[in-house]
Amino acid sequence: MDFNYTQEQLMLRDSVRKFSENEIAPLVKRMETEKRTPWELVQKIKALGWCGLQYPEKYGGTGNTYVEYVIMQEEMSRVYCSTACCISVNGMSGANILKFATEEQKMRLLPEHLNGDGIGSFAFTEAATGSDPNALRTTCVRDGDEWVINGEKVFITNATLPGFMAVFCKDVEMGGKCTNIILRKGIEGYSTPRIYEKMGMHGLEVADVVFDNVRVPYENTTGGEAMRGKGFQILLGSTQIGKLAVCAQAVGMAQAALEIAVKYAKERVQRGKPIANFPTIQSLIGEMAADVMASRQMLYYTAFRASEGHELAADAARTRLFTSQAVHRVASNAMQVLGAYSYVNEFPIERIFRDAKLTEIYEGVNEIQRLIAATDLLR
Ligand SMILES: Cc1cc2nc3c(=O)[nH]c(=O)nc-3n(C[C@H](O)[C@H](O)[C@H](O)COP(=O)(O)OP(=O)(O)OC[C@H]3O[C@@H](n4cnc5c(N)ncnc54)[C@H](O)[C@@H]3O)c2cc1C
Repeated sequence: MDFNYTQEQLMLRDSVRKFSENEIAPLVKRMETEKRTPWELVQKIKALGWCGLQYPEKYGGTGNTYVEYVIMQEEMSRVYCSTACCISVNGMSGANILKFATEEQKMRLLPEHLNGDGIGSFAFTEAATGSDPNALRTTCVRDGDEWVINGEKVFITNATLPGFMAVFCKDVEMGGKCTNIILRKGIEGYSTPRIYEKMGMHGLEVADVVFDNVRVPYENTTGGEAMRGKGFQILLGSTQIGKLAVCAQAVGMAQAALEIAVKYAKERVQRGKPIANFPTIQSLIGEMAADVMASRQMLYYTAFRASEGHELAADAARTRLFTSQAVHRVASNAMQVLGAYSYVNEFPIERIFRDAKLTEIYEGVNEIQRLIAATDLLR
């Protein structure tokens, strides 16, 4: 058992930290106001190869593992979670291809997905369902060499940006089973009529998508004929990787909140001494530090297991459940340390508090994570 980062992992961590502090941090105010991530920033991150960390070199990746992927996600989220999330949705839609596509599809789609001028989307949620694949209404019907897709998805991240989208459809000829299809965003019949005003994660563009007779080559059925009608399996496999990123985002934000609280506690003077001297502040900081430590251990354990190819479902659900609740506690405790200054936007803690809430909701709500976390024990 080795709890140390390798030299290469340390170098990656330092590079992402430096990049995030020098290139992302100065843009945060603008992103919070404009409510999107500048395209030039996405391009810079792609040029550094950080969208391809967890992919083999033959598909255009850098041949690292999920451990490196979560290092990148953690460090980016420590500075600005919206940007990390924009990139992680590319990771989840890429996981779709890497885990389930045919070899021909991987060779055809992944190099562009990882290095090209686009960023991926993953479209499952609909107005009637965010948690139940049997309730999908978006349909796909085969017409010769093409699919014809009709319907509407809601809350789709990066939907307004160019790139590939993995769409989950109700396959009419398969008796309504779920089939996953990869399409290019912005093609004829594809529109994004609504962009959401959100509580947090303002740098992330999230939109509804309408598919009006959208035609996609039949060869873009994820996994080919063998995986047709097995969209639920694809959904579960891909969201496990999505969840890993959410856990890394939770750890990165929790680390940031802890650092802000520690610095403030040492500097803020009350009754003639730094508030760090008060036992109440010490116990808040102690609890935060324990949450951060436990979250990070769970994150890297699960990322390591993912890299080794182990079955992830229960571990990913448990890690996601704990880290998302932990970052909520940490951000809340940090606000107590900063008092009134936490409630105004002079410090980024109120943003972290708002952004952190999403980790309990997206990629499957925590109520469902609790159920998955228990299944292997109760079988
Ligand atoms: C900022 C943002 C970005 C998003 N990005 C994407 C994206 O890129 N792609 C995408 O497909 N979706 C995306 N989503 C959607 C998100 O993943 C769903 O909103 C989420 O899965 C919850 O779905 P829902 O809101 O329909 O909740 P519902 O399924 O309606 O659930 C509502 C509540 O009911 C309870 N509940 C539901 N089902 C169960 C159950 N089986 N057991 C126990 N309790 C249950 C839970 O308490 C849950 O919180 C995004 C959402 C947000 C806010």
